[in-house]
Amino acid sequence: MDLQRIDQEYVLHTYARNYVNFVRGKNAKLYDSEGKEYIDFTSGIGVVSVGHGNEELADAICDQARKIIHISNLYLIGPQALLAQRLVELSGYDMRLFFANSGAEANEGAIKIARKYGEVDGQIKRYKIITLKHSFHGRTITALKATGQEAMHNYFGPFPDGFVYAESIAQIPELIDDKTVAVMIELIQGEGGVEPQDKQAVQSLAKELKKRDVLLIVDEVQTGIYRTGELLASNLYEIEPDIITLAKGLGGGVPIGAVMTRLKDIFSPGDHGSTFGGNYLSTRAALAVLDILQRQKDAGKLAATIDAFSKASQAIAKEFPHLFEKEVGIGLMRGLRAKSADIQSQVIQKAFEEGLLVLKAGRNTVRFLPPLTITEEEIEEGFAKLKNALQRVEV
Ligand SMILES: *Cc1c(COP(=O)(O)O)cnc(C)c1O
Repeated sequence: MDLQRIDQEYVLHTYARNYVNFVRGKNAKLYDSEGKEYIDFTSGIGVVSVGHGNEELADAICDQARKIIHISNLYLIGPQALLAQRLVELSGYDMRLFFANSGAEANEGAIKIARKYGEVDGQIKRYKIITLKHSFHGRTITALKATGQEAMHNYFGPFPDGFVYAESIAQIPELIDDKTVAVMIELIQGEGGVEPQDKQAVQSLAKELKKRDVLLIVDEVQTGIYRTGELLASNLYEIEPDIITLAKGLGGGVPIGAVMTRLKDIFSPGDHGSTFGGNYLSTRAALAVLDILQRQKDAGKLAATIDAFSKASQAIAKEFPHLFEKEVGIGLMRGLRAKSADIQSQVIQKAFEEGLLVLKAGRNTVRFLPPLTITEEEIEEGFAKLKNALQRVEV
């Protein structure tokens, strides 16, 4: 069977795909069809938060699949209610949730909440949403327009109106006018290049927005679910957003997204919906993911993992100063800022040859999003492979 040929023939070419064929995994390790072992510092772009082949997650999914996978949102869905309660309690925010299937969809929900908030007595009073230039908010037409990287807007217009792009957090207040209803930001830009925002700048923005009755939407699709060491990056930044979106790590690989908001009564029946969103399978999986990660956090294991990983990553930047400007990131969302785009792509390719998966981000960042359950031994093995790769990079 020539899977590569079949893929190229029948699947649309939206990815510059690497044709390795992974057939199984165990935590941060993956094995291809030839039996070669890889260390995974990507966790499927921040998704497989509890690692590959996680027995506890697999048991929860199998148990649920044998009972009910799906009934519609027209009926009570037990694990959905429990997941919403758990996320609210763990976050410390007084909110309600809506469940979707992806990050882009969660952001669509956030944008709809903001737009509804901007409407008064059936009149559109405020509708503009300010986002950042290097942001990434997803691929649907609206989430793409919310994404401030204008190169990504080729071909797909006309777009919905009302998105305004700021160069920086500091510039946002200047761009607010009487039509502005919300600001949407990532606290650590992911796709944009692993770019943590300054905590004080974010806190003063949050204060200013509250004063001016402009909603703060925090896109935690990548930063959420313990990626930074806290349930939410918003917890780490000690802010109280009006709306938070989640997806990637929440289901451990089962598609699920969520929008949470303190505007608990913003929607009435019929305002928003989703066929699949929050079904038995995905919410049961997410509950199992939270069980696993909460235990890691409470036992201090997550903090120890972050410590070990960040030290190893920082050591690499020091050891290879001709390749990297610096090491960046928070928690298990980290990156090495390469001195050029060419170095970035060589590192990714050569790491792959050594049996290590890493990601690109922005123009010149090599990004690490390992499973949150990665062991110290897997960290050591991964960075040993990375060193071998870096010795072969040509500048
Ligand atoms: C990945 C990502 C998205 C899009 O999520 P999808 O599930 O691919 O729709 C949105 N925002 C951020 C910050 C992301 O990292």
